[in-house]
Amino acid sequence: MSPGSVQKVAVLGSTGSIGVSTLDVIARHPDRFRIEALTANTQVERLFEQCKQFRPAIAVMADESSARSLKLMLEESGLETTVSAGMDALCTTVSSDDINVVMAAIVGAAGLKPTLAAVKAGKRVLIANKEPLVMAGDIFIAEARRSGALLLPIDSEHNAVFQCLPSDFRTGNTPAGIRRVLLTCSGGPFRLRATSELSDVTPDEACAHPNWNMGRKISVDSATLMNKGLELIEACWLFGIEPDKVEIVIHPQSVIHSMVEYLDASVLAQLGNPDMRTPIAHALAWPERIDSGVASLNLFDVARLEFESPDVERFPCLRLASEAVLAGGTAPAILNAANEVAVQAFLDGDIRFTQIAEVIAAVMERCKPNDASDLETILSDDLRARDIAASMVQRPSALVRGGHQ
Ligand code: NAD
Ligand code: MG
Repeated sequence: MSPGSVQKVAVLGSTGSIGVSTLDVIARHPDRFRIEALTANTQVERLFEQCKQFRPAIAVMADESSARSLKLMLEESGLETTVSAGMDALCTTVSSDDINVVMAAIVGAAGLKPTLAAVKAGKRVLIANKEPLVMAGDIFIAEARRSGALLLPIDSEHNAVFQCLPSDFRTGNTPAGIRRVLLTCSGGPFRLRATSELSDVTPDEACAHPNWNMGRKISVDSATLMNKGLELIEACWLFGIEPDKVEIVIHPQSVIHSMVEYLDASVLAQLGNPDMRTPIAHALAWPERIDSGVASLNLFDVARLEFESPDVERFPCLRLASEAVLAGGTAPAILNAANEVAVQAFLDGDIRFTQIAEVIAAVMERCKPNDASDLETILSDDLRARDIAASMVQRPSALVRGGHQ
């Protein structure tokens, strides 16, 4: 990438929360970035509006019939965006020579193949979509080394850690001189909720995050604290560290986005208002800095910063994620798959909030992990875990504390 040239960007999942924030930042810098490709699953109307605004060369929809509708709408309005459909089209699009930067913002394991394609093609890949890294971190890091892809973290905590590391640090390496990484966690919407009430919380309550406005899956993960568990695994891969070097710190204000402690006991932190446009702007322009549209942090309004240790009894997903990373191999992929099925079942009203952890624990019990050296094994264990989890959410009364039903 030559400095000063306009960077051509593909946004995987442009209609989602991260996708929309990415377009907001890019729209502020037409001299630096051009949207070359936009993609979505089924949200035709929103993708059509984005095509009208950004005029990408290509739009891809994972869903075939949505792609047909989008094509008709674009033709009727005289726009020249080419439309294609399906997973292979997502992978080809991000690998094209016409793309310099790929924002990976699909939710869940569905983002694995296109994100990996972007990594293999040596792009600058902005990783919001944490689940693929949880499933196949080893493969992502090895492929990035091989291709020269630059992986930059978008998750606010990992972006904060990256900003606190020496400027020559590259993701996948192990930084010198660090004692531990302190990953902050808001505690989610149920931090203060009585344990006895947790089995009755609704999907809308779970999605009403106190500090961040996000898609529904990550919102539920934030409420169960599985999000922090996934982020623990993500941190191990991105920063080349062992899980015992990562400490989770509950910090309800979400002003400190994470910290790094060095061997001399210095602790560096990155602070800012909780708005994903900050890490997005950071990673888009890195190593330069650009305006993100986010307001300055007013420390007088924040007034105080609080810290607590996490309660893994009330939020067992955090413990399950720690167990998965210690077990290694395909255990994190199994954990992730079970979680995706359980969260969807909760959002659909099929299981209770507290049964999410029960489903995951039961799947991990039944589904023993394999070595995670190749993608086929990882994907087959992902499917195996999904099948078991799906059968459990169909008869939730059989779960450990099925008396809830
Ligand atoms: P979202 O649900 O708002 O958006 C998801 C996007 O992915 C949409 O554009 C959707 O069309 C697309 N998509 C969904 N399923 C797909 C499929 N099968 N094939 C192709 N595209 C598909 O989610 P989000 O909140 O923007 O989160 C996206 C990712 O970023 C997640 O992995 C999440 O953990 C991570 N993340 C989000 C935030 C946040 O603030 N929202 C913060 C940190 C990390
Ligand atoms: Mg995060």
